[in-house]
Amino acid sequence: MASPYLVPVAQLLRDIPSTYECDFSAPFDEEHEFPPRGIAETDVAPDAPVKVHIVLQSYSGGLRAKGTVEAPWHGVCRRCSNPVLGVSKVSVDERFVDTRGPGDDDAYLIEDDFADLAPLVHDAIFLDLPLAPLCREDCQGLCPYCGIDRNEATCDCQAPIDSRWATLDGLRFMGVEPDESKEV
Ligand SMILES: [Zn+2]
Ligand SMILES: [Zn+2]
Repeated sequence: MASPYLVPVAQLLRDIPSTYECDFSAPFDEEHEFPPRGIAETDVAPDAPVKVHIVLQSYSGGLRAKGTVEAPWHGVCRRCSNPVLGVSKVSVDERFVDTRGPGDDDAYLIEDDFADLAPLVHDAIFLDLPLAPLCREDCQGLCPYCGIDRNEATCDCQAPIDSRWATLDGLRFMGVEPDESKEV
């Protein structure tokens, strides 16, 4: 079966301007083109269902691709390291051209009268993935001393007193202002 990402555009390019609506759901990376990222990185599973809604409109010289793509991602909370699931919904506004001229560096290529939406979808989603997701806005993270998940439990750990700051405290007590430029 032909990939739904591959859109025949010969007719569109003949009748200018004309539009074609692409509305489908398909696996993110059917070809398994992208190796899984590191375990701590936000990623999209190859078989994750991507919703694509893109309208192609022809103009003399190419196609305008405008719409939205939506994909579920999985990641790791940067504070507590618990798994996080989310959805990236991205607006796209790109161009497909037959041949790249000046100013077309970021345009996608029409090949053999087909516009392949897959690279466009991959680029849009990968750019939108959060680098450091949180499991929730107010995640308390792990205690840096005992490793307890502060969302679930509390501990009595206290930050050890840094001797440099202890000295500064002494100076303050004696009424001498510490030189701020020497603070680290
Ligand atoms: Zn968290
Ligand atoms: Zn602790």
